[in-house]
Amino acid sequence: MDTSLVLEERGRLSLRPIDAGRPMTPNDVRIAVHTVGICGSDVHYYTHGKIGPFVVEQPMVLGHEASGTVIEVGQAVTHLKVGDRVCMEPGIPDPTSRAAKLGIYNVDPAVQFWATPPVHGCLTPQVVHPAAYTYALPDSVSFAQGAMVEPFAIGMQAASRARIQPGDIALVTGAGPIGMMTALAALAGGCAKVYVSDLAQPKLDIIGAYPGIETINIRTTPAAEAIAQATNGWGADVVFECSGAAPAILGLPQLARPGGTVVLVGMPVDPVPVDIVGLQARELRVETVFRYANMYDRAIALIAAGKVDLTPLISATLPFADSIAAFDRAVEARDTDVKIQIEMPAP
Ligand SMILES: [Zn+2]
Repeated sequence: MDTSLVLEERGRLSLRPIDAGRPMTPNDVRIAVHTVGICGSDVHYYTHGKIGPFVVEQPMVLGHEASGTVIEVGQAVTHLKVGDRVCMEPGIPDPTSRAAKLGIYNVDPAVQFWATPPVHGCLTPQVVHPAAYTYALPDSVSFAQGAMVEPFAIGMQAASRARIQPGDIALVTGAGPIGMMTALAALAGGCAKVYVSDLAQPKLDIIGAYPGIETINIRTTPAAEAIAQATNGWGADVVFECSGAAPAILGLPQLARPGGTVVLVGMPVDPVPVDIVGLQARELRVETVFRYANMYDRAIALIAAGKVDLTPLISATLPFADSIAAFDRAVEARDTDVKIQIEMPAP
């Protein structure tokens, strides 16, 4: 049994041995975990003990944003070998399910997702994972970048759902990690310019440092006013709602151009009001995003091609021995922190 980062119950983490492993099958690989990013959902399970219907009822290993090195390969695996540097897609769908057959395995009701109760996560020295959801990293992509592929894949899913046209103007409401990932995916996906709005200037400074991204501090200028100014009153072609904040969601129709698109990425904790007539009056297309499907290859390709650089979003890297401190820092939610990563000791 390997020492893992275990959420014992709401508010209590420990580093201790736990039996969290899956048995190897011929279609699996065993991976020595190298880097794991801390996600908002990990933090939420730590502070609240639940997300919606998912409740932590027994000790659970946290973490789902991981990269590592293949150390054992199942007999049926052909595309990976021992020594390959990889990142892993944390959701394991049932390949025979109706959703998987349709290619929308992210909404397979049977999906087993790391660190979603009762499934253990990857803040542990070794994981056994289906080779089909394990992706080789090109030499130019570091372990740290590999562990950023998971959150970036959500931005990729959002950009794909938007059906961006070359030259689109996009607005991202909310400069949290997912808002930043979505802005970068939208830019890489063909947007001429991406505006990002938030109240926290330090976050805007981080994402605004990327060429092609402009920021709107909604403490001084309402997003609707700023986007109207920027587009001669027409509105954004695509609005990505990444804040999950009720006022932002209510105000969505004022941000998009007639016939434009709204993509709901942020997840409000409770149900929130939506201005349906406002959406109808501009005949806006509304899309939703839940995790991602078939995005890892594309995300890795963009990073490897140098079209997306996620490194500036890695705010701190702590050793596994300090992972409880890393989580306590993530709970602080500093405006200057985007992604905190944990590095496992060498196997
Ligand atoms: Zn995540």
